[in-house]
Amino acid sequence: MTINVPDEVIEAVHEITASRITDLVPLPDLFTWGHAVPKRQKLSSKRVKGTRFRLAQRLGPNCAYCGHKFSDLTQATIDHVIPHRLVGHWQSWNLVLACEPCNEAKGTMIPERLVPVLCAALLSGSDRVLKAVA
Ligand SMILES: [Zn+2]
Repeated sequence: MTINVPDEVIEAVHEITASRITDLVPLPDLFTWGHAVPKRQKLSSKRVKGTRFRLAQRLGPNCAYCGHKFSDLTQATIDHVIPHRLVGHWQSWNLVLACEPCNEAKGTMIPERLVPVLCAALLSGSDRVLKAVA
C-alpha cells in the first residue's frame, strides 16, 4: 500500500534526522485511537543490508539517538522515526540507524518536535498520515 504523507511531515522528519534525536516522547493516543495496528512487514536481509548502507551514506554511520559510531554496519538496527505501526511502510525518509539498546528504548516514542506537525496533518482534515492503519 502506498501512503501519501503530507510534505510537511517528511520535511520535519528530514530536519529532525539531520542531527541527533534526543527529545523522545510517547506517541500520543490520538494517533492510534480507532485504528488497527498494521501487520508488520519484514524486509529481506538483502534489503536490510542495502537500506543500512544508504542510511549510513545519507546520515552518517551513527546511532541517531546516542551518536554511537558503527564500525560495522551489521551492528546497526533500522529504526522508524514515526513508528511502523503508524506509517505501515519502510520508506527511507522515515528511517534512521540506531544501536539496539536505543532502538529498544525508543519503542513507539516519537521526537517531541514531530507532535505538532503530525497533529496539524491530522487536523487539516486529512488522515493521510494514518491511512496505513485505517
Ligand atoms: Zn544508540
